[in-house]
Amino acid sequence: MEFALADADAAFQDELIGFLNRELTDGWDRADGTGLGSAVYTDFSRTFVKRLASRGHLTPHWPKEYGGGGRGAWQHFVLGEELWKRGEPRGPQYMNVNWVGPAIIKYGTPEQRAELLPPIARGEVQWCQGFSEPEAGTDLASLQTRAVRDGDDYVITGQKIWTSYAHGADYCFLLARTGTAASGRDGISVFLLPMRTPGVEVRRIDGVVGDDSFNEVFLTDVRVPATAMLGEENRGWSIVRRTLAYERVGAPRYARAALVLDGLADWAAARGLLADSSVAERFGHARALCEAARILVYRVIDERAKDMEPTPHAYQARAAMVQAERAVGDLALDVMGPEALVADSLGDAQFRNSLGAGIAAGSYEVQLNLIARLVLELPKE
Ligand SMILES: Cc1cc2nc3c(=O)[nH]c(=O)nc-3n(C[C@H](O)[C@H](O)[C@H](O)COP(=O)(O)OP(=O)(O)OC[C@H]3O[C@@H](n4cnc5c(N)ncnc54)[C@H](O)[C@@H]3O)c2cc1C
Repeated sequence: MEFALADADAAFQDELIGFLNRELTDGWDRADGTGLGSAVYTDFSRTFVKRLASRGHLTPHWPKEYGGGGRGAWQHFVLGEELWKRGEPRGPQYMNVNWVGPAIIKYGTPEQRAELLPPIARGEVQWCQGFSEPEAGTDLASLQTRAVRDGDDYVITGQKIWTSYAHGADYCFLLARTGTAASGRDGISVFLLPMRTPGVEVRRIDGVVGDDSFNEVFLTDVRVPATAMLGEENRGWSIVRRTLAYERVGAPRYARAALVLDGLADWAAARGLLADSSVAERFGHARALCEAARILVYRVIDERAKDMEPTPHAYQARAAMVQAERAVGDLALDVMGPEALVADSLGDAQFRNSLGAGIAAGSYEVQLNLIARLVLELPKE
């Protein structure tokens, strides 16, 4: 593969960098001492994404007819990488632009597309992802939230958990069981649920990785029209598989890890710690892991740009990203010592980020299982 960006992609990157340098002054996300997921940060994101959208930089990869720039996989990726390098100022919007919108483009009715896509492309709405349940995480196919047909409506009852950003969301991309209890992955449907529908209750969960972003979502007799379903009844699993195939690498976390590593190196250099060759070596090791993750992710984007079917390379790329995040998190704790215990310090923030990285979007152990089976072709037991 060719590692350098094509001219048009590099020009897009240059323009984007210029815009971001003007919009995001140093420390933009920590200006008031609060962090990601806080009210201040969320408000900033809401305003920022509108400005991004007005430049055509929010959904560059979407088809033009749905408010995108028709620019392809690499420019989509350049966008993600530049924003994660700066701490992801889009907040939850990466879900909208990476996979919620594309799912609606691919599987939505003309009415759903007309109603739901323009507000996403303009950066006006926030979506959340209602997949996990108390008894269904890795084993998502065992989810129990039920949607029962009643005339022209469905009535949904159940509970979701770990729903990031649900407290500020306008819509939920919700999975519910429409088949029998034993139907497994063949009885699941997708609903595009407005969060202000009666019967939807959001409760915050305080958590060590969460920065106020986690929630439980309780659904009690939530009545939605049948037109809120995305795609066909009981075919939700294939929608999710297809739409999320690339999402394992959708958040280029190595870019933020590398940013933190730079900050940590400045911190260590100012205290003379880099003169110790064993410390310097660990910095080099962590940087190498960030770079390895970057290259492995590029391989997946290259496949995507060539319109290839998803391959197990995505599992390798994601495992490498988790390793990079963890290496930087561990290094921050070791180098900063007790100072890493200060809330929102580099060490504290990165350690908590790296905890979440190994769980969200499919846990690290499960990625390793998939690599063992599909790449190394090891026996199952
Ligand atoms: C930062 C963050 C944000 C999240 N945001 C959302 C969100 O917006 N929406 C949403 O729906 N969910 C969200 N989640 C939830 C996430 O998808 C689940 O936590 C994840 O799928 C794991 O499910 P679980 O927590 O039930 O753990 P479990 O599935 O119970 O797993 C527990 C442990 O067992 C291991 N394990 C399980 N099965 C296997 C296996 N077969 N082989 C080897 N090891 C195994 C896992 O690796 C893990 O270490 C988020 C989680 C995090 C951390």
